[in-house]
Amino acid sequence: MYVRVAVPIPSSKTFTYKIPEKDIGSAGIGKRVLVPLGKRRATGWIIEAPVEASTENDIKEILSVFDEEALFSAKDLPFFEWVSDYYLYPLGMVLSEALPGGVPPTIRRRVRLALQTWRDDESLTTTQRTILKRLASARRGLSLNALRRIAMNKVLSKDLRFLEEAGFIVSEEIAKRPTWTSGHHPNFDPNIPESYSDAVETKADIILNNDQKTALDEIKKGLSSQKFSPYVLHGVTGSGKTEIYLRAMMEVINRNGGIIYLVPEIALTVGLIRRVQGHFPNEPIAVLHSGISNSVRHQQWERIKRGEIRIVIGARSAIFAPVGNLRLIIVDEEHDTSYKQDDRLRYNGRDLALVRAKNSRAVVILGSATPGVQTYFYAMSGIYKYLHLPLRANDRPLPKVFVVDMRQQRDKKGRIPIFSDHLIAALEETLKQKNQALLFLNRRGYHTFVFCSECGHVFNCPSCDVALTYHASQGVLKCHHCDFTTKIPTICPVCGSKNIKSQGTGTERLVEETRRHFPDATLARIDSDTSSRKGSTERTLRDFAGAKIDILVGTQMLAKGHDFPGITLVGVVAADSSLNMPDFRAAERTFQLLMQVAGRGGRGDKPAEVIIQTFSPDHYSIRRAQEHNYIGFYNDELPARRQFNYPPYSRLISLHLSSLNREKGGKTVAGIAETARKIALNLTGGKVDIIGPAECPLHKLRGRYRWQMLVRGKDGRSIHQVTKKLVEEIDTKGMEIRLDVDPVHFM
Ligand code: ADP
Ligand code: ZN
Ligand code: ZN
Repeated sequence: MYVRVAVPIPSSKTFTYKIPEKDIGSAGIGKRVLVPLGKRRATGWIIEAPVEASTENDIKEILSVFDEEALFSAKDLPFFEWVSDYYLYPLGMVLSEALPGGVPPTIRRRVRLALQTWRDDESLTTTQRTILKRLASARRGLSLNALRRIAMNKVLSKDLRFLEEAGFIVSEEIAKRPTWTSGHHPNFDPNIPESYSDAVETKADIILNNDQKTALDEIKKGLSSQKFSPYVLHGVTGSGKTEIYLRAMMEVINRNGGIIYLVPEIALTVGLIRRVQGHFPNEPIAVLHSGISNSVRHQQWERIKRGEIRIVIGARSAIFAPVGNLRLIIVDEEHDTSYKQDDRLRYNGRDLALVRAKNSRAVVILGSATPGVQTYFYAMSGIYKYLHLPLRANDRPLPKVFVVDMRQQRDKKGRIPIFSDHLIAALEETLKQKNQALLFLNRRGYHTFVFCSECGHVFNCPSCDVALTYHASQGVLKCHHCDFTTKIPTICPVCGSKNIKSQGTGTERLVEETRRHFPDATLARIDSDTSSRKGSTERTLRDFAGAKIDILVGTQMLAKGHDFPGITLVGVVAADSSLNMPDFRAAERTFQLLMQVAGRGGRGDKPAEVIIQTFSPDHYSIRRAQEHNYIGFYNDELPARRQFNYPPYSRLISLHLSSLNREKGGKTVAGIAETARKIALNLTGGKVDIIGPAECPLHKLRGRYRWQMLVRGKDGRSIHQVTKKLVEEIDTKGMEIRLDVDPVHFM
């Protein structure tokens, strides 16, 4: 029997292999196999079985079949093939990233006697005789490790080679099937911990309000139609979206269907998991995310594949889970950027949710308080069905938002202060009332740049185009884009001056400044520096929830999902950092972030206030956030998109090109752009245009020089066609090319 195998190599080629007699029973689509590939071995996936006896000569045999249970089925394959084509990424690599089991199989060398009997030979060394003696009593031979132990860890390779060449022993390679330990990852129990089920509320049944009813009825129609039905569920935080998800899920479970429920960050969803488990006490639930070990992931996968688990909750990669009879995909916070994977396979889980739902003729719900501009545009065009929950379900008012113009603020020395008078007064009041406050700042570290005050030299990362950040807690300068760390310089390398100064405010300094103002308050900080310590984020969040912390300082990590009823004040210390990003979505991101941050307040019984400090108080993204006015924001944003022909008025694929050499790279990039223009003209008659190349905002990153180029056109198919052709044709001359394919709106 022959099979077709995709291996994770940077080529779209797949290969035919022969299945040896002994493995015929166990080989099948969706299983991993160990195959010889040139001079090495690789783990690949069977994607077609059986295939016609091939005419290719020199067909090799597979070495081993790994999986008892296939990890995808034949009918999932078109989805993976689609992903491979859309993101211009080889199928074998898509499979190896999307599916569990990246664990390389272990290959063991085993040695045994060549002949049944063995005669002692005086001409052999002591070590060689010891080896032979031991092998004589091990009928099936011994592994290299076992032999090494016997020979007291001596290096045996020479002795073994001698014995093999002299015909005393034979050695063979045996691939060991990876074993999947049962039991759970120590840090995360993929099943619901028992303690949760005790905590499941026995709460009285919620009666849906009219908006919720209308929305749910629509979704039910989609579910019974058995047709691909995409919905946008637009509702502020607390409007009761989750309540609708749960009821739609109930509908699906009652009809024996499967569900994928995507959330942006699984670490923050303990509450959600508990809530889902409360609704489905008898359903096992799989929780999939990057933090679980491969063996647990593999186990969960097999149980899903066998149909034992019908509800999968997870971060973006859960979109690949082998859920059978998939009827419903929920994408909560669909606008969230963490659905996008930014390296290797650069997919967007939210987009793939639409593709998979379409393939499965299922319902997909894109839920958000601030839907992406493109999402809303498509909802307004009738491509997605629009469902709206305009009010909070529990009648809690939305927090009042104040915008402080930092251009007007000066401290006694005439400098712009970190805290405005307004924010100081509000913090004072919060502490006096024994309430809690959250302070956001999107920069970690202490000072955000260090410079020589004599000559103005700024201390930059040697491999990136950015200033180093001073981290007071570790007493070092760090690059936030690579892992470069260095001691604080005492002398300027340019002018020799010892007058080294630093400026700019990061979260570390913000904590210090807060402490200076409020020495009696209990403070804590959460950012990616603190979260690298195990369990520390969880502990801080627990303490904050338990009112043991008065003021919590953090980066945008804190903006997501948390529900702290004790918060009455949210301060955004610098709203401008995201607004000044060189990205056509900067205003959208700023608005979404501010809305989300504001949503952290007013969860409990006490009304909350939000204070936004900014140098651009008149920018519409800030004004509209102040009004909690999504539609107002959308109507302000759309003309700007139209004027510059950005999505949703066009579709984009961006190409990032990078090279170690600035000059050569620049030339190659120019050549590639020229080729791209020719292809665009030939293939589409000018319907697709090429913008750039331009240097990236961070021109040098991790030692590589980077350029960017956009392929822009009205429809997704033609920009894709042009990009595909380009990637096939160009001689990259040592360039690294990375593609970003923008959201899928091809329905
Ligand atoms: P969202 O997902 O939009 O943030 P949730 O579904 O979590 O909203 O609802 C917010 C809160 O309001 C929850 O505590 C939920 O139990 C409650 N809730 C939702 N719908 C209703 C309703 N119709 N009546 C009363 N309470 C509701
Ligand atoms: Zn200097
Ligand atoms: Zn760097």
